[in-house]
Amino acid sequence: MKKDLHPQYFEDAIIKCACGATFTVGSTEKEVHVDICSMCHPFYTGKEKLLDTAGRVDKFRERMEAAKNYKASKKPKVEKEEDEEPELTPEAIKAALKIEDQPKVDQPKDK
Ligand SMILES: [Zn+2]
Repeated sequence: MKKDLHPQYFEDAIIKCACGATFTVGSTEKEVHVDICSMCHPFYTGKEKLLDTAGRVDKFRERMEAAKNYKASKKPKVEKEEDEEPELTPEAIKAALKIEDQPKVDQPKDK
């Protein structure tokens, strides 16, 4: 058997993730830096995480916010009672149905 075949094994190797999480595992490396781990990967967190290197998502959100503010400033919400839709009371529905459902085909009178 060859000598020094196995690399040194660290039982308390530290894994450091970019998100700040650290893990202690067994490894042949004393310290490992990773970009993503089970604490921050969307598969485990269930949250959406976008890798946004060019800042395009932020720009898009900025524009969306600006559009929202523009709409809000242009059309201030004014609540008027006149603009409210007529209430759908059972009576109103019945009245509407009677008009629409008037039979235009002759019904057989004798049976
Ligand atoms: Zn992580």
